[in-house]
Amino acid sequence: MRIGIAGGGIMGRLLCHALIDKKHELTLLDQDNPDHQNCSMVAAGMLAPVAELEKCETSIYEMGMQALTIHWPRIINDLDADIYYQQSGSLVVAHPNDQAELLNFISMIESKLRHCEGVERRFVVARPRSVWPKQSIGITKLHHKIFRWIASAKRYAASQRRTSALRPRNDGILYQKLNAEEIIQLEPALSKFQEAYYLPAEGQVDNQALMHALHKDLLAKKLKWLANTRVSSIRSHQIITENETLEFDMVFDCRGLGANTFDNLQAVRGELIWLHAPDVNLNRPVRLMHPRYHLYVAPRPDNIFIVGASEIYADDYSEISVKTTLELLTALYYLHPSFAEARILKTATHCRPALADHLPKIKCTQDCIAINGLYRHGYLIAPTIVDEIVQWMESGRRNFPELWCFSRRVLC
Ligand SMILES: Cc1cc2nc3c(=O)[nH]c(=O)nc-3n(C[C@H](O)[C@H](O)[C@H](O)COP(=O)(O)OP(=O)(O)OC[C@H]3O[C@@H](n4cnc5c(N)ncnc54)[C@H](O)[C@@H]3O)c2cc1C
Repeated sequence: MRIGIAGGGIMGRLLCHALIDKKHELTLLDQDNPDHQNCSMVAAGMLAPVAELEKCETSIYEMGMQALTIHWPRIINDLDADIYYQQSGSLVVAHPNDQAELLNFISMIESKLRHCEGVERRFVVARPRSVWPKQSIGITKLHHKIFRWIASAKRYAASQRRTSALRPRNDGILYQKLNAEEIIQLEPALSKFQEAYYLPAEGQVDNQALMHALHKDLLAKKLKWLANTRVSSIRSHQIITENETLEFDMVFDCRGLGANTFDNLQAVRGELIWLHAPDVNLNRPVRLMHPRYHLYVAPRPDNIFIVGASEIYADDYSEISVKTTLELLTALYYLHPSFAEARILKTATHCRPALADHLPKIKCTQDCIAINGLYRHGYLIAPTIVDEIVQWMESGRRNFPELWCFSRRVLC
């Protein structure tokens, strides 16, 4: 099949990566050059299905877990490039005065997990005793709850017509409360904290290296990459640029905020600071809970750290604000005083493409598919969305039907 894809962010590149291996003939069009700082290039590369549950729907968690357990290891392996990728979990900490934030965070996650298939087993294993004292919930009551969760999870799974074989089976702990000694074993640099939560399933990827590797891989596999080519509209079988109309058997729209195929897209601004801190060593991402903001620090090799990220509902690509800079760096200094001696390498801002319900959508007419609304989870969920699309193209099967919307009307 001749396939045209508009948009070379993480969604467009991963889709090309999957389809080119199925022997399709691909053309990718992007308004910028492949190294341009689009949203996907600016992102921090955190793969945090559990921590993100605080603010998102359980389907994001399910897609993220599937990406982490099945798709990312395969994609990274397949690319045959030096890409920093790790899955050694993340830590969540708080100032002693903000312990309520930490409890709130973990109870929100716990309540969302109750709605996920198979969570009854993980929930029992991971239940932190100090948050839920033994006497507060009797064993019979707990069993009763477990049976109800199993039944409702089964009903939900059936009603959604998902295939359990494609779901990640994670028998491990999803979160675990740590004391001071256990924190030091994982992260010696965080010796000041008496309590933390460890989320062992989480990971991170050097998304800038990944984006470059995908570009290189696609060119090597003979994809036709039309850079600096603005797409003005997309129709069944056609991608229309400012200079010509290109014909394909099938077309995809992955233009993020540049797409005009979705009515209710909104921009959510995010700001990041890149630091070099030779005196700080962290092995995994750390989140600091605070009443006004939730900071994260994603370590990269050679004592490089990415600190983020704000979330502001504005279509604003201007430089980072003083307010965000002060808040992020003050919190960072509390996390470890040696960050005071760090050097600021750069700051980065961009806007995330979000739909009204903050969930991604796959909008489909017969030969035209638009994917958008990846919001703050592009890296977490894009591989699962790609797999969903490829499966549907090959067998008509859908595991996440709530993502799809079908329409007879041509896209624009
Ligand atoms: C500060 C920040 C931190 C983030 N951190 C994380 C994180 O840690 N983990 C995570 O999972 N997600 C994170 N995200 C979210 C993630 O970056 C996005 O969800 C993801 O990049 C969206 O990818 P996309 O391919 O849909 O869109 P984009 O990356 O925006 O790609 C769209 C592409 O389409 C092109 N385009 C647009 N209009 C046109 C047109 N008319 N013609 C041709 N081409 C066009 C653009 O140039 C661009 O290359 C973060 C986002 C931000 C802003």
